[in-house]
Amino acid sequence: MKKLVLPFLVLFIPLLAFGTKWYKGNTHVHTTLCGHADTTPNVVAQWYHDRGYNFLILSEHNKFIDPSTVELKGEVRSDFLLVPGEEVTGPVHSTAMNVSRLVPWEFKDKNRSKVIQNHVDETRKAGGALILNHPNWGRPIHGHEISPVKNLYMFELYNAHPGVHSFGNAHRPSLEVLWDALLEKGMTIYGVSSDDAHKLQKWGEKENNPGRGWVMVRSKELTPKALTEAMLQGDFYSSSGVMLDKLVRGSNHIELSVNEKETECELASEFLFGRPVSKGEPGTFIEFIGPGGKVLKKITGLSGSYKAEGAYIRAKVTRRIKKADGSLRDYYAWTQPVFTDGR
Ligand SMILES: [Zn+2]
Ligand SMILES: [Zn+2]
Repeated sequence: MKKLVLPFLVLFIPLLAFGTKWYKGNTHVHTTLCGHADTTPNVVAQWYHDRGYNFLILSEHNKFIDPSTVELKGEVRSDFLLVPGEEVTGPVHSTAMNVSRLVPWEFKDKNRSKVIQNHVDETRKAGGALILNHPNWGRPIHGHEISPVKNLYMFELYNAHPGVHSFGNAHRPSLEVLWDALLEKGMTIYGVSSDDAHKLQKWGEKENNPGRGWVMVRSKELTPKALTEAMLQGDFYSSSGVMLDKLVRGSNHIELSVNEKETECELASEFLFGRPVSKGEPGTFIEFIGPGGKVLKKITGLSGSYKAEGAYIRAKVTRRIKKADGSLRDYYAWTQPVFTDGR
C-alpha cells in the first residue's frame, strides 16, 4: 500500500498544505515510573505543556501510560495533546507511537533485525507506528540490521541524550551517515529528533534534560492518528534548534526557508546548548544532500531549493553560533527526503 500512496501524496503535498498546521512535539521522554528518571508523568507533561509544545509521548520503558490518567494543572491549552505510547525495551529500544495498549517487549533473538521486526509488528497490532530509537547507543545497530525490516518508516536521527552518540564518535559513524546508507539501499525511512529526557530536577549541558530535540509535524488536525499518519508520510522535519518558515517537498524537489525569529527564540532557550564544533564560519547554511550523503548544493543564507538528480534528496539547515567564550555551536533542522525512484 505504501508504494502506491506515497508518490500520490508527495505530488499533492503543496495542495494538501492548505488546511494543515505545524505542530511541535517530542516523541520520547521518561518519568519516575521507569525507576531511573526523576519526575512524575504529571509534572513531565506539564513541563512540555507550559513551554508551548503541541504534543508529547510519555514513552516509558515497557509501560503504557494512559493519557487519560495524566493530570495537568491550571488552564490547559486546547492545542496540547498526549499521544499514547511506550518505549518498547528489549535487546533494542523503539518508541511505539499511538498505541491503544501495552506492546509486548519480551521477544529475544540474536538477530536484531528480527527483534526490530517484532517491535514493528507488535506495534502495528496495537494500532500504532514504530520509531527505532537511538541506534548508536550501546552496541550500535548497523544498517544491514535495519534495512531488511519491513514496515519500519521512522528512526531517531537525533536523540538529545548525551550518552547515545547521535553524531557518532571514534568508534561509530554519525546517524546521518547511517540514514544516507539506508536511503541509498532503497529504504523509505524518516529521521526523528527527540529528547529522551530523564532528568528535570538537575539541569546542565551534561544532564539528560528536555527541550533539545523535537519534531515539527504538518497535520490536518491535532489528533494521535493524524499526527502519526503525517509522520508516516514524511510530512515533518526534525530540529535541534532551527525552525523553518516554508517547506515544500515536491515530487522531485525541496524548497525551504528558515524562520529567523522562531529560530532565535529557540536558540535563546536556557535548555539548548547545541553541538560543539571545532571549526567553521558562524552563520546559517543549507545543504541539499543526495545518495551516499553527498552534498549536492550548499547555500549560505536563509532560503533555497534544489531539484533531485539521484534517487533522493534531503535538506539540512545549520545555524552556527560563536559563543562569548569563542566556541562554536551548531543547531540543525533536517527535512525528510523526497524520492524520485518510485519507491
Ligand atoms: Zn532507549
Ligand atoms: Zn528512552
